[in-house]
Amino acid sequence: MKKCYKCKVEKPVSDFAKATHKPDGLQTKCKACDKIYRQENKEAIAAKLAAYQAEHKEHLTAYAAKYYAVNKSAIIEKAKSYRETHRDAIRVHQRNYYAKHKDRLKAAVTDEQKEARKAYMEKYRAEHRENARAYWAKYRVENKEAIKAYMAKYDKGRKRK
Ligand SMILES: [Zn+2]
Repeated sequence: MKKCYKCKVEKPVSDFAKATHKPDGLQTKCKACDKIYRQENKEAIAAKLAAYQAEHKEHLTAYAAKYYAVNKSAIIEKAKSYRETHRDAIRVHQRNYYAKHKDRLKAAVTDEQKEARKAYMEKYRAEHRENARAYWAKYRVENKEAIKAYMAKYDKGRKRK
């Protein structure tokens, strides 16, 4: 048992969160008091966290990158198995999200983006057309004899009729 310094109630140690830097390895506040504290100081805690993250941005980014590199396969595997086991839930969530934010999502596609997409499609088609033309030109050169033979046979067949 341990007495909470805040509410002064004796509670089992399982009611206290772990704190490795404290002598007994436990927080001085019980979980219930800690929860109240967090709710009451939500903004201050968020601001503190944001300030910490801004100050340690490089370190945190490097740490995250290192963590990802070390645990890459496990992270990918976990995400994959999550997607597989929650397939229906994810689909429902996506559908709900779209329905909820439909107007915003539609508005997010600006005219600029539409133009960019159109330009891309035109470029793709033009390139594809070039490639197709080049492909058939090459094909005709490479299969000249076969085409000639085929055409001769085809002509012969027609004449016979
Ligand atoms: Zn307490």
